[in-house]
Amino acid sequence: MQSAGGTSGLRRWYRRVALPGIGPVPGYHAGMDAQRPSERRPGPTDTLGRPIHDLRISVTDRCNFRCTYCMPKEIFGQDYAFLPRDQVLSFEEIERTARIFVSLGVAKLRITGGEPLVRRDLPDLIAMLAAIRQPDGGEVDLTLTTNGSALRALARPLADAGLRRVTVSLDSLDDTVFGAMNGIEFPVERVLDGIDAAFEAGLSPVKVNMVVRRGINESSVIPMARWARERGAILRFIEYMDVGHSNGWRLDEVVPADELVATIAAVWPVEPAAPGYRGEVAGRWGYADGGGEFGAISSVTQPFCRDCTRARISAEGKLYTCLFAVDGHDLRAMLRSGAPDAELTETIAGIWTRRGDRYSELRSAATTTLPKIEMFAMGG
Ligand code: SAM
Ligand code: SF4
Ligand code: SF4
Repeated sequence: MQSAGGTSGLRRWYRRVALPGIGPVPGYHAGMDAQRPSERRPGPTDTLGRPIHDLRISVTDRCNFRCTYCMPKEIFGQDYAFLPRDQVLSFEEIERTARIFVSLGVAKLRITGGEPLVRRDLPDLIAMLAAIRQPDGGEVDLTLTTNGSALRALARPLADAGLRRVTVSLDSLDDTVFGAMNGIEFPVERVLDGIDAAFEAGLSPVKVNMVVRRGINESSVIPMARWARERGAILRFIEYMDVGHSNGWRLDEVVPADELVATIAAVWPVEPAAPGYRGEVAGRWGYADGGGEFGAISSVTQPFCRDCTRARISAEGKLYTCLFAVDGHDLRAMLRSGAPDAELTETIAGIWTRRGDRYSELRSAATTTLPKIEMFAMGG
């Protein structure tokens, strides 16, 4: 999914921004044409004029769940070889990488996995990341996506370490449906308790991701929306995606976001809400009765590649510029070779300026069979 060429963009960016030092020149904002004034950021833009706004960091490729759409247990059984510990980035390596990305314009860090809460001492990493500042001195928006199973124990330590908010994945309130989808019959009640713990620790707004699969959990859509309205959580429906190559994805199992919005609107009148920022993945809707909002992530039926400002770092330190990439860029080798910050900065900026990814806009029979990297490995 990497585009060829594009070095002139890097040269332009590097001459104007990076040469004086590793940090961007104050006042210079690349990608000015592509962004509204309030969204202008320092740093490189890719071949489609997209800046880097958002970095997702996978802290582990392991998970205690076996969701059928992500890590089906038939494939990811006891014999599956996850990464050995020495191949996973250390907290120091993650912090350094994140700091460089922030110097290039990243304003939002999302910790993910695998299941991030299975990484030991995660609050220590959160404290290190929370100390990073943007070039203008502003704080970074630091958040985390989790299956919620360990949130009761970890919500408070994570909040104390500087985590701002959290997204919890939950696909149904029905134990039979949820137990089958998470692959280990994990009870709904424990995830709800984790969500309560997140609220109690002040990790709000709490967002709840629900992957909707035709014929599997469609009947959970209205109960989940009702619960989220009452609980004050922001529910986000996610179209079932053809990530990786293990989940046996079929287009007819995708419930289009439009259909989900219509299903909700038939019960509670809704109105569209403006996106929070360029590249926000979820279309947002507000309940007309003031009952909060919900989102729908339409990555299959209405691709949003042209505004995609996200980069991903896998647990082993590979940089992916698209969720559907077949290959990543090995940053770990550089991190462990003693390369100075300036060299890493230049390399990352170069990769970004050459980026031309728009998989979802090009999705076809040919692209769905590509040997894509699994989502849990890359960082969902
Ligand atoms: N383990 C954490 C969790 O489940 O929240 C974080 C990692 S998980 C890969 C991140 C998000 O990706 C979750 O909300 C999950 O539901 C979503 N996801 C995984 N596989 C998916 C697929 N095939 N289609 C759509 N969303 C998917
Ligand atoms: Fe684990 Fe999250 Fe994937 Fe489910 S979606 S298997 S919880 S990484
Ligand atoms: Fe971004 Fe790739 Fe998804 Fe398009 S397909 S929105 S470029 S991650």
